[in-house]
Amino acid sequence: MNVSRRRIFGLLTGLALALAVAGSLSFPALERHYMRQQAAQNAVPLQLAVEGLRAAIDRYAPLPALIAERPSLTALLADPDNSALRDAVNEDLRQTAATVRASDVYLMDISGLTLAAASYREAGTYLGRNFSYQSYFSQALNGDLSSFSVYGTTTGERGYFYAAPVEVGERIVGVLAVKFNIAAFESIWRGATSEFMVTDRNDFVFMSSRPDWHFRAIRPLSDATLRVIAQNLQYPIDRIELLPITQTPLDADSDYVVIEGPEREGFVLTSQQLTDLNWTMSSLSPNRPATLNALTTLLIAGLTALLLLGGLLAYMLKQARQAEAFAQEQKAKRLLEAAVVARTADLQTALADLKQTQTDLIQAGKLSALGQMSAALSHEFNQPLAAVKSYADNAGAFLDRDRIPEARENINRISKMADRMATISAHLRNFARRPQQATGPLLLNAVVLDAIAVVEMRIASEGGQIDYTPPDHDVWVTGGHVRLQQVIVNLLNNALDAMADQKDRVVQIWVDGTTLRVRDTGSGIDPATLPNIFDPFFTTKAPGKGLGLGLSISFNIVTDFGGTITADNDPGGGAVFSVVLQPARPVEVAAQ
Ligand code: ADP
Repeated sequence: MNVSRRRIFGLLTGLALALAVAGSLSFPALERHYMRQQAAQNAVPLQLAVEGLRAAIDRYAPLPALIAERPSLTALLADPDNSALRDAVNEDLRQTAATVRASDVYLMDISGLTLAAASYREAGTYLGRNFSYQSYFSQALNGDLSSFSVYGTTTGERGYFYAAPVEVGERIVGVLAVKFNIAAFESIWRGATSEFMVTDRNDFVFMSSRPDWHFRAIRPLSDATLRVIAQNLQYPIDRIELLPITQTPLDADSDYVVIEGPEREGFVLTSQQLTDLNWTMSSLSPNRPATLNALTTLLIAGLTALLLLGGLLAYMLKQARQAEAFAQEQKAKRLLEAAVVARTADLQTALADLKQTQTDLIQAGKLSALGQMSAALSHEFNQPLAAVKSYADNAGAFLDRDRIPEARENINRISKMADRMATISAHLRNFARRPQQATGPLLLNAVVLDAIAVVEMRIASEGGQIDYTPPDHDVWVTGGHVRLQQVIVNLLNNALDAMADQKDRVVQIWVDGTTLRVRDTGSGIDPATLPNIFDPFFTTKAPGKGLGLGLSISFNIVTDFGGTITADNDPGGGAVFSVVLQPARPVEVAAQ
């Protein structure tokens, strides 16, 4: 991993950490958001629960007033010691209680003493007890048609009480009370997903869907409040316990509450006031859905962020890779360019070297040609010059002694030497200046015969044989008679030179189309020197025997004719020269 990649990973890890921190920091706010939403959703079920409670309470409100109208009650109040009447009233009230499912129905006189009660047969019956201290009693005595409150002191059972005055005309003579078990009201909450609690003005939980919350205060009760409760015997003072509840407001009507019990429970608490009753009814829905929602949201956000980060990572890595590849490409390019420059420089140096070598070679070639030429020329001229000198000296000596014939003999020799040097000079001239003489149609056979005639003298003195097979028809070629003859003489002389050491010397000449071939039976041409034999001044012959110009001149002549001359070694031994000539149109009279 290179530096830029490490930097990218570092950056993204930092981002991921920052996101994780941001997520964990935003979690409480998010959870509160969902709890508020939950509270809003709880509003309707809470409203329904409140209505249900009101309906249940209101249903029995008229009951004590209706029962209070019974004449047997006023009769008993008027004659409290009438045991038969009391028995009848007791039984009547018991049946009424059974019908309306009240837990008790009982009659008190104006002193608060219970004269008859539906529970007359049961242990702990109200019968004979005085309830003058109860607020419902005093309210009823004041003429209120019904009143209610909650008590749990007598039986330890939470009760809801309705009371009505028993009147004779305008006069209140007693109070009739009906008690319902609060559990009956709580049954309406059965099956709800939320928990419910009803607190009174003292924040005392007297109704709840959770039995373990009954008789518990959600706030520490003040001493004054405790005194009032003790006075009214409203709640079992010894059983009042604080519900360990922590409340965090969510909005005006709702709180997030945590209740510490055997286990810690969190709720979204939504409250509604029942102002006329001085009650507060609350629904408590577990806050777990909000927590889960917050977690899910965070998870989705986290996953999305991860996905984005992943995408970003992939993108940045790709960019880095591309940059890297580009850099590498650039580097490679630079290296290549440098290599090309270096190679070009090498090549240029090599080329310069080559040129230099070529120049050197040309120079060397020229020098060697010049060397060869001067060696040949100096020999060619020095030797006759030396001879001329000695002949001239001889002639002088003979003249001094008046030996004229000998003197003449020597002078003749000098003349021959001069001729020989003139011939050499002519050769050189031929080589130097290529005569631009006209070419025309020639009868090849005639030229060959003229050439053979030239070397005949040499053959006569040195021996040897020329074996010429003339063509069976006239062969017309393009050229100049004398120059072509010179070429053929040259080839014949070379052939005779090559066979000088041999006993049987045969030169074969034949014509093949417009090609003339000359073959000897000599030792052939050294393959190493074969490419050089047409070069000027190239010779393998001893000094004085050859100038190395014959083939070079022949080559130029044949080229001038538009033909070619080539040399080769014959498989049967010896050299064979081929002179390929341009065919020419026959003419009436030979041009030469
Ligand atoms: P020169 O005869 O003066 O040497 P030429 O140009 O005629 O010059 O010939 C060049 C050389 O070619 C000769 O020295 C010889 O080595 C070679 N050469 C020419 N003709 C023949 C031949 N028929 N057989 C072998 N070598 C030959």
